[in-house]
Amino acid sequence: MNIILMGPPGAGKGTQASRLVNEYGLTQISTGDLFRKAINEQNQYGVIAKYFIQFGHLVPDDFTIQMVRDYLKDNTFENGFILDGFPRTIVQARELESIAKEFKFNIDAIVNLDIPQAKLIKRLSGRRTCKDCGSTFHVEFNPPKQEDICDKCGGELYQRSDESEEAVQVRLETYNRQTKPLIDYYTMKGTIININGDQPMEDVFKDIEKALEDK
Ligand code: ADP
Ligand code: ADP
Ligand code: ZN
Repeated sequence: MNIILMGPPGAGKGTQASRLVNEYGLTQISTGDLFRKAINEQNQYGVIAKYFIQFGHLVPDDFTIQMVRDYLKDNTFENGFILDGFPRTIVQARELESIAKEFKFNIDAIVNLDIPQAKLIKRLSGRRTCKDCGSTFHVEFNPPKQEDICDKCGGELYQRSDESEEAVQVRLETYNRQTKPLIDYYTMKGTIININGDQPMEDVFKDIEKALEDK
């Protein structure tokens, strides 16, 4: 099964994706994680991505699409994949449709995590990310057992540099302007599943599971 996971920054995409990975053996494809990895490795994608990400802007479409295309081409997905954070524009959504045709895969479900914008600031400002494995925690809602240490791999937790107040504000505006229209795009196609993301993590996951079982 191949899934698209959508939602504003901080909605819980990464959190739910990693649960889906554990439960169904899907492969998580997070464009944000791929960009951060590229930045660390200082490879061709990293240099350009860094410039846009630090200010909270989207990385340009052609560049993002190329990276995702390469990733889908170079990897096999035994049990399917979860696209976490892609597509984020209508252009990316259209390109994904043509990549799917070319590589002969289907998108089986589009899951949208719905949450009031006012809740996102707190989620983002409290998020801590593992520098080694990318797992996320929350200082209040999902604290690690040991402060600033990853439960999964023992790596050091850090606060992302695009999680400053200014960058978060720009990211939310960017979402409203460029990504939100995608909800209408997929709603019109009749393929979107809206999930209430404003509930405890376990309940969000249960609702996603229920929705996927009905598929
Ligand atoms: P996204 O990938 O959509 O940006 P994350 O999964 O990283 O979002 O979640 C953002 C922050 O909110 C993280 O710190 C995470 O631990 C926390 N979080 C995720 N889901 C919930 C939830 N249902 N309730 C409370 N906090 C949550
Ligand atoms: P979020 O917590 O906002 O969901 P991500 O880790 O998914 O964060 O993304 C971090 C940043 O990476 C975004 O603010 C954006 O600059 C860039 N990015 C991620 N996915 C995309 C995409 N599909 N298109 C363009 N830029 C992207
Ligand atoms: Zn870790």
